[in-house]
Amino acid sequence: MTLKVDLHIHSCLSPCGSLEMSPRRILEEAQAKNLDIIALTDHNTALNCPTLLSLAKNTNIVVFPGLEITSREEVHILALFEHLEEALDMGQWIYPSLTEFPYDAEKYGDQVYVDENEVILGEVSVYLGQACSYTLEEIVDTIHQHNGLAIPSHIDRPGSGLLDNLGFLLPQEKTRFDAIELSRYYWLSPFPIPNKEDYPCLSSSDAHFPEAIGTLVSTIDTEEKSWQGFCKALHERQIKAGIFPSNI
Ligand SMILES: [Zn+2]
Ligand SMILES: [Zn+2]
Repeated sequence: MTLKVDLHIHSCLSPCGSLEMSPRRILEEAQAKNLDIIALTDHNTALNCPTLLSLAKNTNIVVFPGLEITSREEVHILALFEHLEEALDMGQWIYPSLTEFPYDAEKYGDQVYVDENEVILGEVSVYLGQACSYTLEEIVDTIHQHNGLAIPSHIDRPGSGLLDNLGFLLPQEKTRFDAIELSRYYWLSPFPIPNKEDYPCLSSSDAHFPEAIGTLVSTIDTEEKSWQGFCKALHERQIKAGIFPSNI
């Protein structure tokens, strides 16, 4: 079967995410868009994943818990997991590497995690949009130690993409990235984009507000709507990034 996946979504816990992005609203929007698998990837934290996973149990949407980590080099990288504990452990590893400074929610945006009824459970006082002190290599190692997938996000994007910060992309056997994510503007990138044959390519919405969910997806051919089914499709390159015109 062919499944629609959107594996890069921010909630109200990301400083740049809309307050409307509660786990409940994200799930409703994903259902309305007929998505099969989604991932919650807040900046440097997985604290809204427990609520989203719990809500998703009553639906036919599979949720991968995850994070979008900012490395020391200012490179954004998605960390996707099968199990909640793996994502939360990853968040606990990241947290002490973030710098504490007086946080102004008015200025940078709210960072709240909520329950199934959108009641605020708590807020994070460390600015989550900052770079952590770990290198990209350390982050990839730790994602893999937690059985996760390491996928640099929007590699073509200025500022926070891998190509703008590092200027190059080594072959997969060196980087050990499980895939790469290209943004919807990849065709504007001044950097050479790797061949689809060199790396499995994904594209996702990077949604920060509800309407954006599912506006850019990837499709996978798989026998199973599950983590295992997704990993197999990735391994066998049975995956198509929605940004490539031939795949639309
Ligand atoms: Zn990003
Ligand atoms: Zn993002």
